[in-house]
Amino acid sequence: MNLHEQIELAKNEYKGEHFSAAENGSTPNNKRKASATHHPTKEQHRLIGHYQKNQPGPLLLVMGGIHGNEKAGVIALEKVFNQLKTTDPDFKGEFIGVVGNLQALKENKRFIDVDLNRQWTEEKANFVLNTPRAKLQCSEDKEQRALLKYFELYRKRYSRNNQNRNTILLDLHTFSSAGANAYCIATKVGESRTWASMLKVPTIIGMEKVLKGTTMNYFNRLEMVSFCFEAGQHTDPVSVKRMEAAIWLTLTSIGAIVPEQVPHYERHVNLLHEIGKDLPNIVEFLYRHAVKADDLFKMKPGYSNFQRIKEGELLAHDKAGEIRSPHDGMILMPLYQPQGEDGFFIVKEVN
Ligand SMILES: [Zn+2]
Repeated sequence: MNLHEQIELAKNEYKGEHFSAAENGSTPNNKRKASATHHPTKEQHRLIGHYQKNQPGPLLLVMGGIHGNEKAGVIALEKVFNQLKTTDPDFKGEFIGVVGNLQALKENKRFIDVDLNRQWTEEKANFVLNTPRAKLQCSEDKEQRALLKYFELYRKRYSRNNQNRNTILLDLHTFSSAGANAYCIATKVGESRTWASMLKVPTIIGMEKVLKGTTMNYFNRLEMVSFCFEAGQHTDPVSVKRMEAAIWLTLTSIGAIVPEQVPHYERHVNLLHEIGKDLPNIVEFLYRHAVKADDLFKMKPGYSNFQRIKEGELLAHDKAGEIRSPHDGMILMPLYQPQGEDGFFIVKEVN
C-alpha cells in the first residue's frame, strides 16, 4: 500500500467519528453569525484541511478542539482553509489542520473519559498504536490513536521530499475565565519558545514541569517543534479571530507563505500585538493548584489571566476550606468550568 492509500485508510478508519448538523441542532440562520459556537452544516471529520503546492518547505500541523468544548480552533481552521481555497496563494511546504477530540467536540465536553491533553507519553502512544481500535476502552485512547496515525503518515510522506526542514505542531486552545488576554505556552528549552514568541503575545515557559503528557511535551521530543496558543474565552468570537491571526502569522514566520499574499495581514498582526504590548513577553511557571473531581473546588469570581496576586490572597475554596496564594505573581487559567484538573497557575515575569 502506498502512503496516499494509507492516509485514505486512516481517514476512513473511524466510520461514524463525525457529527452532523442535525445532531448538533444547527439551523440555516445561526450558521451565518460570527460566533465561536460551532454549527457545522456538514459532517465534521478528523481532517479539517490540507494545503500545499508541491514546493519544498516546512510542515505545519495545526490542531483544534483537543478539548471538545474548545470549538474556536476548529472554526478558525475552517476559515483559514476556506481563505486559502479562495485566494490560492503560493505556498512552500504543507499545512494540515485536524480536530483533536472528535467525540468530545460532538458532545461539547472537554473530554469523554480522560483529558486527551494529559496522555501524550511514549508509553501511552505505543499502547494505543499497538492495540486494535476495537479493544480500546477509553474514548480518548481511540482519539489519540487516530491522531498518531495521521501525524505519522503525513510526516513520513513529507520527510521523503523535505529532508531537514521544520516540522511544527501548533495546538489551539481556549479557556473558561474572562479577560481579554491570549498567550502562548512553550517549552523552556529548544525552539518551541522561539516560534511561539513570533506571535507577540506573552509566552509561558516551564509548564512542562507540572503538566505531563501534553502534545507539546510529546511532539517536542519527536524532532518536531510544538507550542500552544490560548486564544481567549471558549465562546468569545474574538477567540476565533485571534486563532486565525495566530495561524497566518505562524505560516508567514516559518516561511510557508509571504505576508503580501495573506489577506488582511496587518489586521492579524495588530490584533495580536495589541494584546502583547502591555504584558511581559516571557513569564515562567511558578505554581499549579491541582484539582480532583471530588474536591468541590470553587474559584472566587472575577480573576483573569495575568492579574497580579499577592502571597496569602484568598483565591478559591474547596471541601478542605480556603485556598490562598503561596506566592506573589500573576494568576493564569483560573478554573471556571466543571471539568478540569488545574484550579489555577501562578506565573512570574522573566527579566
Ligand atoms: Zn484546552
